[in-house]
Amino acid sequence: DKVLVSGANGFIATWVVRKFLEKGYAVRGTVRSADKSKFLQDSFKSYGDKFEEGAFDEAVKGVNAIAHTASPFYLNAASLDELIGPAVNGTVSILKSAAKNGQNLKRVVVTSSCASVLEVGVDKVFSELDWNELAIREIKEQGDSAPGPSKYRASKTLAEKAAWEFYEKNKSDIKWDLSVLNPPFVFGPAIHDVKSTDALNTSARQWYETVLVDGKSKDFLTVQGSAYIDVRDVAESHVLALEKEAAGGERIIISAGTFYLPVNAANALSPSPIPSHTPLPVGYPDVATKDPVKYDTTKGARILGLKYRTKEELTRDTLADFEKRGW
Ligand code: NDP
Repeated sequence: DKVLVSGANGFIATWVVRKFLEKGYAVRGTVRSADKSKFLQDSFKSYGDKFEEGAFDEAVKGVNAIAHTASPFYLNAASLDELIGPAVNGTVSILKSAAKNGQNLKRVVVTSSCASVLEVGVDKVFSELDWNELAIREIKEQGDSAPGPSKYRASKTLAEKAAWEFYEKNKSDIKWDLSVLNPPFVFGPAIHDVKSTDALNTSARQWYETVLVDGKSKDFLTVQGSAYIDVRDVAESHVLALEKEAAGGERIIISAGTFYLPVNAANALSPSPIPSHTPLPVGYPDVATKDPVKYDTTKGARILGLKYRTKEELTRDTLADFEKRGW
């Protein structure tokens, strides 16, 4: 089978491409520029003609599945237009192409986010029944002055809503179905093209800064325990979401649990994968001062059955990756 992966050069997507290739799928990736294309061609050249590139609408032709990962992810957007339009239109346009040219298509897997599920500050166990109406309210009321993270969360919520809406409206005319994955913060080693820590994607950069630069400034990981998943498990979940029949028509939270204090997790590793000259901040208390974010992950366990990597494994492999890059 052949899978189309949109935004194939991203942190998550490059792992998604690799997992599909490892499992024997052929992959067609889409990217936005030629230099990004070159890195991917080099990375996956051992798979011969099983990896190729394409652009919408043509890209959808002949593929059996789509993993739609492309979407802008940064938390400091100045305007709503930067994020909402690209996130929503990017999703709807690939689904439109799928409806038009996806004669061989069986399933579309959309990389949504726990940002479409969680309402920040609400203390409850969130499940797939929850939608982040709070972020939508915030951008409606505050417009461009809404906080950057709210803009991003609203973009993911609106994009996922648009995906379900499109699917519900067209499902009697199409042969494929939709499956949506909702990961929380994604961390782990990088295999995409990153030459400096500044070029890391938003979540991996925050993890890097929290652990190796200045833990204190990163509230979301040091004060309020945030949920996490290893990027390799996100990639694996895309394969499973495509292969498991029961994933069709479902949104699925994929979370390994609370990642509270990665600095402590790094310090606890023995032997430490961190070079001795890198001083880690020490002395954080071992209790979260706010309620950690909680997700009900029973649906994912039932349908995908993935065993998540632990934060120890994630921490060890990520630090080893950074060490290898001289960071
Ligand atoms: P990256 O920034 O590494 O990748 C984002 C990808 O989306 C890149 O290929 C990028 O292309 C593409 N993209 C960005 N803006 C646009 C646009 N306007 N039009 C078309 N393509 C665009 O991020 P991640 O790998 O972390 O994120 C991938 C997906 O996972 C996103 O949908 C994100 O919302 C979701 N996600 C990420 C989480 C995380 O913690 N990392 C958590 C939950 C969900 P280019 O390089 O050309 O800009």
